[in-house]
Amino acid sequence: MSKGIHLILLGAPGVGKGTQSALLKDKLSAAHVSTGEILRAAVRNGTEMGLSAKTFMDKGELVPDSVILGIIKDTLSDSSFPDNWMMDGFPRNLAQAEAFNQLLSDIDQSLTVVLNIAVPFELLMERLTLRRTCRKTGQVFNLKLNPPPEDGDFDLFQRADDTEEAVNKRLSVYDEQTKPLIEYYSSKGLLANINGDQPMDDVLKEILTTIDKFQ
Ligand code: AMP
Repeated sequence: MSKGIHLILLGAPGVGKGTQSALLKDKLSAAHVSTGEILRAAVRNGTEMGLSAKTFMDKGELVPDSVILGIIKDTLSDSSFPDNWMMDGFPRNLAQAEAFNQLLSDIDQSLTVVLNIAVPFELLMERLTLRRTCRKTGQVFNLKLNPPPEDGDFDLFQRADDTEEAVNKRLSVYDEQTKPLIEYYSSKGLLANINGDQPMDDVLKEILTTIDKFQ
C-alpha cells in the first residue's frame, strides 16, 4: 500500500472546506483537489467540459458523475501528483464514492480519514450568500464574518451559484445526495466529525489532531 496522507473533506456547501484546504495544503505539503475549482477553471477557459458543466453548476445541480470521475482519474494518474492529497467537494454521492474506492484500490492507495466538517444548517445560507472571492488573489472572504482588510486592493466578485436560489438548491442536493456519505464512511471506520462553527484556526487545529490519530 502506498504511503501518504489521503483526505476527503466532506460537508455541506459553506462549511469551510475550501478555507481549510488552503490552510492544510501548506501544513501537509498536500495537493488540494477541488472538483468545483477545476470545473470553474474549465468554465473560465471556455473548454467543452466547462461549457457543458456550467448549465448544471449555475442551477446548483451536480455535474454528471462521468465528467467528475474523468477529472479525478486524470488527476491521480498524473506522475507528478504528490503522495499527500485532499479531495474537496468529491465524492458528492454514493456512486462517486464507490467508484473512488475502486479507483484507489486499483492504484494501491487508501484513505487516511474522511473529515466531516459540520456547521449548523441555518448558518450556511448567510455564509454562502455573503461569500465573495478576489479576482486577483483567489482569496475567499465573507462580507460579515471574514471581511477583506479595508486597506487591501481587492477585486471582489460573487460566484454565480452563491445566489439565494442556487444556494437553496445546493443545500437540498447536499441533503439528498451527499449527506448519506457520512454513514457510508462511518461504517468503514473512516469518518471523523469536525466542528466547523469555530474560528478557522481552531477548526484547523482540530483537523490536524484528528489526522494524527488516524495516521
Ligand atoms: P463546489 O465549489 O464544491 O461547491 O462546487 C461547485 C459546483 O460544481 C457544484 O454545485 C456542482 O455543480 C459542481 N461540482 C463540484 N464537485 C462536484 C462533484 N464531485 N460532483 C458533481 N458536481 C460537482
